[in-house]
Amino acid sequence: MVNEKLGILQQRITTLKSEGKYQEVIENCYVLIELGKQIRDYKSILAAYMGLVASYFYIGDMEAAFSYIEIHKEICDKHGDEEDILLSSNVICLLYEYNKDLDKAKKILEKNIKLGRKLKRYNIVSNGYSNYSHMCMLEEDYTKALEMANLGLEMAKLHKPFYPILELRVKLNIAKALIGLKDFVTSKLLVDEMINDPVLDSFIREKSQCYVLQGYWYSEQQLYSKAFEAFSNSKILVESYNDIYFLKVIQDERCKLCELMEDINLGFKLQKEYITLLDEIRKTELGLLALRLQIKYSIASIEKEANTDYLTGIYNRKYMETTVNGFLKQAQKNNESVICMVFDLDGFKFINDEYGHLFGDEVIKQVSDACSRILRKNDLFARFGGDEFVVILKGITLKEGEIKAEQILETVRDLNIYNDGTRIPITISIGVTDNITCSAIYFNDLFNVADLRLYKAKNSGRNRVCSFN
Ligand code: GH3
Ligand code: MG
Repeated sequence: MVNEKLGILQQRITTLKSEGKYQEVIENCYVLIELGKQIRDYKSILAAYMGLVASYFYIGDMEAAFSYIEIHKEICDKHGDEEDILLSSNVICLLYEYNKDLDKAKKILEKNIKLGRKLKRYNIVSNGYSNYSHMCMLEEDYTKALEMANLGLEMAKLHKPFYPILELRVKLNIAKALIGLKDFVTSKLLVDEMINDPVLDSFIREKSQCYVLQGYWYSEQQLYSKAFEAFSNSKILVESYNDIYFLKVIQDERCKLCELMEDINLGFKLQKEYITLLDEIRKTELGLLALRLQIKYSIASIEKEANTDYLTGIYNRKYMETTVNGFLKQAQKNNESVICMVFDLDGFKFINDEYGHLFGDEVIKQVSDACSRILRKNDLFARFGGDEFVVILKGITLKEGEIKAEQILETVRDLNIYNDGTRIPITISIGVTDNITCSAIYFNDLFNVADLRLYKAKNSGRNRVCSFN
């Protein structure tokens, strides 16, 4: 059942991704993570985290992208295989590059290349070298860039089946490095060879990059109108897939060339184009900002819903368990106390039977509301299920905890709940313990002892607190 749901969900995420609907991708990835956790399907969980990383990256929320890649890496280290690690580190590398942390990005690439070679994934290795070369060029180390790109070419040739674009991608770096090294003969041959390669007709991005290289080449030769023509060819292609940031790079170059050519009419036309482009960039960025806010809001409400008990609006069991596990870890480190109270309505079955289930619901809500009112902001209060509730208090002694329990007992006892004008008295029984008494490391250790004491309270006549065995 869950398996089937997982499959459908993954399919949906793939479709949404291809449609560029990042908000929906993100929302569905959260659901996938929850489902994956239920049946410990780590492949699905990893895929979902990767979906989150990619989506947050695309919408420009780098902080979120980094935090999810961290989680992905943690799960990968424990449950992933080498392929997962390879995928994860490729993405980490991309994020580091984006953040201009080239040293870290290169370190990860080196590891990736090694692992890719071991797994004989030559496409990944070739891309790895290609990226490495690109980073060397950002640092203007063209000798190293050329060396890396040549290695990438070797690796692309090893890939089976033969995949021509793999070679072309590395050749773009080779040509760029050669221009950087001022080898204008070899670089020209290579650029011309690529531009005339029919393979590039199906890879518009690479073709546009090729024209940009041609433009740089002509610029270096001070053949400005030829260079302008090359950048213009690239511009037409880039407009077809609308990469506004790449378009800006091209327009910057065209403006520079226009000045060098001293062509006033062209300059005027370019200025208008440039303003329109900047306007488009601004609109895109505003749109992304709005999308990021919308996603933050929708995720917060998804998380809130997942942690909330639907009837009372207080926390649910799942949230309580995970949060208290964290509290206990912290408390152990700092030698702090954590008090746990478990309480359960007395004779609630009778209330349901006598006055109906809806009235029963109303009682549960009123008890929950009344207790919420007397608890502090830092106390944790959850409905554990049925008519059972848990309260967690930090930084007080067991004695103080017992006093609080008595106060809760009294508050419920004093509730004025009426049915058909008749006051229906409600009482509860409470079991109390603390982490020190039961050397609790996990929530369950704490809960079991408090629950035992609750049953002791029930067995000794109900409507009371029990805090000893
Ligand atoms: P005890 O004093 O031993 O606790 O007796 P009890 O009758 O309260 O027994 P118990 O706690 O085992 O029964 C809880 C009942 O709560 C059983 C179930 O039908 C009812 N219940 C569970 N969830 C809900 C709910 O959401 N709404 C309502 N109205 N009743 C619920
Ligand atoms: Mg009960």
